[in-house]
Amino acid sequence: MHESKTIALVAHDNMKQDLVEWTEYNYHTLLRHRLICTGTTGRLVDEAIRAKAKDELPRDFGIELFKSGPLGGDQQLGAAIAEGRIDCVIFFWDPMSPHPHDVDVKALLRIAVLYNIPMACNRATADFLISSSILDKAYEPVVKDFTSYIQRAIP
Ligand code: PGA
Repeated sequence: MHESKTIALVAHDNMKQDLVEWTEYNYHTLLRHRLICTGTTGRLVDEAIRAKAKDELPRDFGIELFKSGPLGGDQQLGAAIAEGRIDCVIFFWDPMSPHPHDVDVKALLRIAVLYNIPMACNRATADFLISSSILDKAYEPVVKDFTSYIQRAIP
């Protein structure tokens, strides 16, 4: 993991306002990193950062947008984690409502844990993560060695 990180930002609809507020508060730090979002979250985060940063906005600022979560965006994010493209995830999932893509959400949570990716699922944890001294340093998460699993004998 390099000094500049790739941070994924995702929020369910009822949590989007929380993420926008958090983004506005932390836009300065976020501008030092690459950002990836699911579609609708990305649109809101992009607007929030542009509105806050104004003249400070780097010329090359841009958020990589995946599809909307229910349309495959969560799965794209899971795939990007498996490919080693994501350094940390801020995912404000809604603990009070069922979603059509709950299985995708579960898969995303699982793959982030499997690859030992720092993942904040609420604002307090996101505050701790964004203010961590490790965020701006090189850091390699320890990932379990799955060689014996891959090479296991299949009866
Ligand atoms: P969205 O997707 O950013 O496109 O709303 C988020 C989600 O529901 O997982």
